[in-house]
Amino acid sequence: MFIGHYAVGLAAKRLESGLSLPALLAAPQVLDLLWPIFVLSGVERVEVAPGDTAFTPLHFVSYPWSHSLVMSIVWGFAFGAIVRVRGASLRGAGIVAALVVSHWVLDVASHRADLPLWPGGGPILGLGLWRSVPATLVVEIAMYAAGVALYARATRSKDRTGTWAFVALVAFLFVAYIANVLGPPPPSAMAVAASALALWLIPLWAMWIERHREVRT
Ligand SMILES: [Zn+2]
Repeated sequence: MFIGHYAVGLAAKRLESGLSLPALLAAPQVLDLLWPIFVLSGVERVEVAPGDTAFTPLHFVSYPWSHSLVMSIVWGFAFGAIVRVRGASLRGAGIVAALVVSHWVLDVASHRADLPLWPGGGPILGLGLWRSVPATLVVEIAMYAAGVALYARATRSKDRTGTWAFVALVAFLFVAYIANVLGPPPPSAMAVAASALALWLIPLWAMWIERHREVRT
């Protein structure tokens, strides 16, 4: 799942209006922000295997440090603590931690069985929405549309930048998602991981938007 994760973060603005857009977009993607670092450093492994599921050519061979349930809870506590120290309410920090763990839950829905519960063996989970491209697109695009609408209704732009920087981010994520679906398989596992590092730009983009939007009262 890709834009579905961002959808959950955007929707959470309604739950706690004090949470900033960078936190809301980083939290549900913490696992995917960490994953390329673990892959590039050789701690986790992915292979390019077209047909692994209909939706993705990626075979997630091993990713227990970024993508196990236990570690997602650890990362959730860590990220929740960071936003708490930086001034978020306790409730806001709890929501951020839950957003981090939501990534694992949504990945279980999407991936075929490849998500561990904890590092070092044990059962692996995955319900396999990705076996169907149309079903994946319907679910994820519906989630994304709802998330964007909820965030847009919870906030308003202070100036034109607040409108266009937000619209551009929404469009960019959608186009990147569709290009990923339609494009050829990536040349190598390392190329996948290297390009996934670009996800770090999304919270930075969100910092820019945050300065130009405010909570609707
Ligand atoms: Zn993931």
